[in-house]
Amino acid sequence: MGSNALDLRIFVKKIYTLLVLRALYVDLNSFFASCEQQNQPLLRNRPVAVVPLIADTTFVIAASYEAKAYGVKTGTRVGDAKKMCPGLQLVCAGHSDYVKYHHKVKTAIETVIPIRAVRSIDEFACELTGSQQQEEKARQLALKIKEVLHHNVGAFIKASIGIAPNFLLAKIAADMQKPNGLTILDHNNLHDRLIRLKLQDIPGIGPRMEARLNIKNITNMEQLLQCSEQHTRGLWENVWGARMHRLLKGDWLDFSEDSPVKSIGHQHVLPPQKRNFTGGLLVSQKLLWKAAVRLRAKNMMARKMYLSIRLTDGERFFKEISFHPTQDSGFLLQKLKEMYQATRGKKPRKISVTLFDFVKETEQQLSFFENDNRNRIYKAVDAINQRYGRNTVFSGSLLDDKNTAPTRIAFQRIPGLDEVD
Ligand SMILES: [Mg+2]
Repeated sequence: MGSNALDLRIFVKKIYTLLVLRALYVDLNSFFASCEQQNQPLLRNRPVAVVPLIADTTFVIAASYEAKAYGVKTGTRVGDAKKMCPGLQLVCAGHSDYVKYHHKVKTAIETVIPIRAVRSIDEFACELTGSQQQEEKARQLALKIKEVLHHNVGAFIKASIGIAPNFLLAKIAADMQKPNGLTILDHNNLHDRLIRLKLQDIPGIGPRMEARLNIKNITNMEQLLQCSEQHTRGLWENVWGARMHRLLKGDWLDFSEDSPVKSIGHQHVLPPQKRNFTGGLLVSQKLLWKAAVRLRAKNMMARKMYLSIRLTDGERFFKEISFHPTQDSGFLLQKLKEMYQATRGKKPRKISVTLFDFVKETEQQLSFFENDNRNRIYKAVDAINQRYGRNTVFSGSLLDDKNTAPTRIAFQRIPGLDEVD
């Protein structure tokens, strides 16, 4: 075979790779507000704002499309939202309900296509394989997903779906038409659709990144797309630039190249009556317990832990410690207690506890047999709690206050149904 023929084959293969639709992304529309409208018929077709508590000084967590039409959106101050949208219905966030709907949505989608990755409480990524990669088949799958959401979850639970050659583009496609959209990005329209976007429409480009791009004379999508892979890498000053370049061109890159879990942590704002030494200790122990359960579920061991406490006077207390790799709740709780002693006499307002610097369980040579035994006990405890309810077996020091830190909205991680209060 001549080298021209070989070049042609590589060229054709490259074009073919670009054509393949491999990702389908489901993004639910105004998810929290839609859950409320599904639950409460009186809220249907009316402007709804989900708020943390009923007060003009707080901020909107989510707005229904009827409220969005008046300019109300996530982050709008409630006082302003009420002025912008007369008749606005305020609803306190029902976090457990949203988690329940999340699991219903997940189950419904999985009757149509397996979910490759849950990306947030209202976003799901599916991989298209075989004949699903044909445009018409992919479109039918998307329509089927909308249908099962309607019938199995609720008529007010709607999604925008994006189909594209990779997950980044599929997410961008899902964003292009809201609510209830269906957008396919392929070789015919990819470039034209992308150049119409703003830089910040691209996941991974926030205000800071846009400012950096502007300094380097990239002020719009057309300029960004014209850059070579090497140039884009230079813009980001790391490998993410090269990755971004390839993704925007339509290359298939898997999630596995995403950063793995680097830390597990929880935080909680204390109610006023618990802003004291004991209240803070109990809450921090509960947060650590939850983090340790997740650590063990991931078959990881942590080598570091930090405790960060925002005090009522605005000061911050911060302490970080290192230890041999462990997933032993008893050991970690003891260490936490020691760290916490330094806050005596102070008034904690917000507490966060984080485990990090992980090693895989299997990579860890256990130095003491006892430790291994204890780890097994904790894993058994986790299994029992999962089977019979979250607080069936609990560490003694937490018994006083096992419901201190209720489940909050999980943007990063969605609690299992067993974790919902
Ligand atoms: Mg959404």
